[in-house]
Amino acid sequence: MKFQRPRGTNDLTPEQSPLWRYLRHLFEQISTQFGYVGVDTPVFERTELFTRTVGEDTDVVAKEMYTFADRKGRSLSLRPEATAGVVRLVVENSLLASGGTHRLCYWGPMFRYDRPQAGRYRQFHQLGVEAFGTGGAALDAETIELFVTLLREVGLSDLKVTLGSVGDDACRPGYIEILRKFLAGKGDVLCKTCLTRTGSNPLRVFDCKVPGCREAIADAPKILDHLCDDCRTHMDHVGELLQTAGISVEIDPSLVRGLDYYTRTVYEVHYPSLGAQSALGGGGRYDGLVEQCGGPATPAVGFSAGIERLILAIQSEGTLSEKDWKSRGAYLCLMCAGAEAAGGRIAAHLREAMPVEVDYTGRGLKAQLKTANNRGARFAILLGEDEIANRTATLKDLDSGEQKVLSEEQLLTLIKTWIAGETRQSGL
Ligand SMILES: [Zn+2]
Ligand SMILES: [Zn+2]
Repeated sequence: MKFQRPRGTNDLTPEQSPLWRYLRHLFEQISTQFGYVGVDTPVFERTELFTRTVGEDTDVVAKEMYTFADRKGRSLSLRPEATAGVVRLVVENSLLASGGTHRLCYWGPMFRYDRPQAGRYRQFHQLGVEAFGTGGAALDAETIELFVTLLREVGLSDLKVTLGSVGDDACRPGYIEILRKFLAGKGDVLCKTCLTRTGSNPLRVFDCKVPGCREAIADAPKILDHLCDDCRTHMDHVGELLQTAGISVEIDPSLVRGLDYYTRTVYEVHYPSLGAQSALGGGGRYDGLVEQCGGPATPAVGFSAGIERLILAIQSEGTLSEKDWKSRGAYLCLMCAGAEAAGGRIAAHLREAMPVEVDYTGRGLKAQLKTANNRGARFAILLGEDEIANRTATLKDLDSGEQKVLSEEQLLTLIKTWIAGETRQSGL
């Protein structure tokens, strides 16, 4: 009997995982440099956490959530996004009691029951950051700068950052009434979902993908024309701070993002050469969410990015080469019976300097060297009867094909010297 993975999911194969690990490492490094600390939350939470924060009228909750009853009949959902869970974590662990700013980051799988298509999966992965504690524009700008730094670091530098605002309690209710009036006049062309949303949550009409609806709302009033002075100043200030940081920004009046909890700032970062699906990630401010989840009123801002999309962009653009993310090590070929002990000793020494994989298969040298090359190893180290008798090893440079016989001590020294030279060359 043969099994297949569920529709809309992926395996991370040995072929793919080195690039994923490289990206994760880089993200953690950059987040650390910006003062962000990693957190993890469960992949499932009480369903209510998502319906009440992400919003019942959003596509994410209404159409795409994996919801199930556990054995005691409690309703649980696989997390469709990370922010709600991180906010729950912050409140449940009383992180905000000490005041100040709290900067958190995460990496992990999310789940949405969507029709699978290129680059969209039912189990997908996101990285992201959430920063709690100040309502000023500088924190918004910082999260965008962190994101852009990561993208530039992997060679995606031709970016477009779009910035918008969804207003706050002072100006959004007024705008929503104006929008509702506008939508009421379009009753004959809107789809059923949009008609319902006109009553319950008119902003979500902008998420509709039905062509008739898109056409009907093309000239809908824009929230940017109805922002209060504070929201306008906030948005402009985010833009100015980014400009100062060397990141150019475009104001996008139609940017509303498909989740209910945003306040003021919303943003997206695009890599235009990807075409129609160019958004690498986005985020915004959610000043009311902590209080809504039972914590002290605390302004906050964050972003998330789709890791599959990011990997796809890196690969299709060829901005990195394998040698950026593959650590090239040594492949130890044992060529006679009784070579394991010497092999183990040499491997243990060399692992101080580089990754070492030992071939215990007892195959012929040709087959072992073929595997070494397939692995992308930098060196092969051959151990046969002569080498063992003389406590030596034959080092074969797999790039140049040169080989020489060395004592075990010389071997380690030579490899360490080689690594130091490589490091100097790459300017690290
Ligand atoms: Zn619609
Ligand atoms: Zn406002």
